[in-house]
Amino acid sequence: MKTKNLSILGSTGSIGTQSLETARKCGYSVSALSAYSNVDLIEKQIREFKPSVAALVDENAAKELKNRVSDTNTRVLSGLSGVCECASQDGADTVINAVVGMAGLRPTLTAIECGKKIALANKETLVAGGQLVTRKARENKVDILPVDSEHSAIFQCLQGQPSNRALKKIILTASGGPFFGKTKDELSKVTVADALKHPNWSMGQKITVDSATMMNKGLELIEAVWLFSVSPEKVEIVVHRESIIHSMVEYDDNAVIAQLGLPDMKIPIQYALTYPERIESLTGELDLTKLGTLTFYKPDYDTFRCMTVCREAITRGGLYPAYANSANEQANLMFRKGEIGFLDIGELVERVMNEAPNVTEYSADDIDEADSEARRLVLKYAKKR
Ligand code: NDP
Ligand code: MG
Repeated sequence: MKTKNLSILGSTGSIGTQSLETARKCGYSVSALSAYSNVDLIEKQIREFKPSVAALVDENAAKELKNRVSDTNTRVLSGLSGVCECASQDGADTVINAVVGMAGLRPTLTAIECGKKIALANKETLVAGGQLVTRKARENKVDILPVDSEHSAIFQCLQGQPSNRALKKIILTASGGPFFGKTKDELSKVTVADALKHPNWSMGQKITVDSATMMNKGLELIEAVWLFSVSPEKVEIVVHRESIIHSMVEYDDNAVIAQLGLPDMKIPIQYALTYPERIESLTGELDLTKLGTLTFYKPDYDTFRCMTVCREAITRGGLYPAYANSANEQANLMFRKGEIGFLDIGELVERVMNEAPNVTEYSADDIDEADSEARRLVLKYAKKR
């Protein structure tokens, strides 16, 4: 199905605004926009893109927005149900889910049920509910196209894959974040401001802290397991400081295919929308001679516990990844508010992941319950410190 008309969830964020730049450039129409509470920015977006519907989760912000855009034809909705209505908007053929966190799960499920193509940035959705989301997508014959740069790279490297698959492993690259090479002792003293300084990417605050703890790479490992139906041991993480090779696949004959490009999310966003075609990009060209050297290192699984915990969680399966993800959402937030230290994040995620109930099947309600329970446990254990 060719993309022509978009519903963009999380339109005011880092991925959301870059998706709108891409829509503007590619000439796609936009029939739905949603955000949490950023009235000023979504008002501007409504005036430019003229969607039929817009939603803000926060009720008061939605009221304010309704007043401000009463002179337009855009219907304003509120709450999670409003976001889900944006995901099911009749006019849209493609939903870009750029919501941050578990809150993206219900809108993803709604979009799948409505048969929309999904361009997925919201990785937490696949981490917490991978089994449910991928099963529903198969049942409804819905494509989930990755926006995350590593997964877009893997998806691109898999084009032209042989009929026997012959996939030996996925090599997931990681920038290593701002704290690459630091010891636990050094990490015990880092501040929120230090964690928010990513060397290569400019992103929302939650994922920037996830990159510093390397939780982001752990989440991406789980995301790769679900998107590409591989077992966790087939996903190897390699630190590549320059973020030029966005990931690789190795086939049975030891041939390794890589996808390279400047670190700019507009490349994977655009590919998710134009696939299987390619068109000119807004992004600059890669000049390898200016870079000179590309470097690769083994990740430090002992210091960056979150990566190890995610690998363990997806190996155990069931709701373990949902517990790890929600524990991280809570701990990441508390770190940004100055309530816990940097190293506490990994310790809390590990402790709470281990408390997940051992189940093999789960529903969306079970994931919501797991979310509340994991957050409750993080608050309890953090208090005792
Ligand atoms: P941002 O924090 O920049 O944006 C998040 C968006 O989601 C905003 O529009 C925000 O609205 C909205 N939002 C926040 N909370 C809720 C909620 N509870 N319900 C509904 N909407 C909500 O995040 P990013 O754009 O950085 O990241 C979005 C997703 O994309 C994440 O899952 C991230 O992991 C993934 N991703 C991001 C990359 C990047 O380069 N930024 C790269 C790869 C993946 P408001 O502005 O009103 O708060
Ligand atoms: Mg990524």
